[in-house]
Amino acid sequence: MNLVLMGLPGAGKGTQAERIVDNYSIPHISTGDMFRAAIKDGTQLGLKAKSFMDQGNLVPDEVTIGIVRERLSKDDCEKGFLLDGFPRTVAQAEALEEILTDLGKSIDYVINIDVDENILMERLTGRRICKSCGSTYHLVFNPPANVGVCDKCGGELYQRADDNAETVGNRLEVNLEQSKPLLAFYETKGYLRNINGRQHIDNVFVDVQALLGDLNK
Ligand code: AMP
Repeated sequence: MNLVLMGLPGAGKGTQAERIVDNYSIPHISTGDMFRAAIKDGTQLGLKAKSFMDQGNLVPDEVTIGIVRERLSKDDCEKGFLLDGFPRTVAQAEALEEILTDLGKSIDYVINIDVDENILMERLTGRRICKSCGSTYHLVFNPPANVGVCDKCGGELYQRADDNAETVGNRLEVNLEQSKPLLAFYETKGYLRNINGRQHIDNVFVDVQALLGDLNK
């Protein structure tokens, strides 16, 4: 089950990603998470990525494509993977095709969680993430039982540095511009499946499961 998950920031991609990887036991490959881990660990990769990320801009392709190739070559991707946050551009999508061909694999579906742009701003600035386990919450749409505390592990919840209104606006704009040609690319390839992301989280996942049931892998 080789999947790419798409959706503008705040579309609920992170939540659906968690459910997909739990349900189908495939690794969750999020380039954003990989960059954040590298920054936390103070690695060379983190140093390269930080200035771009802090401004809501994309990390250059030569950096990003390299880490994806390395990650997809690992053994745990044998029975599948869920790519999240990559590709973000047609150039990255073309690089991914090349990487997968080299590995003797191909994409099954590109799942696009579809939500109107105007409600994404509200969704994004309310997002909170657990410092310990990385679970995501929302102050309005998916609040934790206790304010500021993770339901799963009791960790402290925080707001990502790039979830403030100014950076979010820039990030949405960058993503919108970039995602249109990417969606067109995958539509042409026949991989694209749009899922209605304006429903309750549980119902979005029901639609995802209905789609993935076909793969039977
Ligand atoms: P995300 O967690 O997917 O929203 O990513 C957070 C930030 O990491 C983005 O705003 C970019 O700066 C960087 N990033 C993540 N994935 C990519 C990618 N595929 N290409 C370039 N930059 C990326």
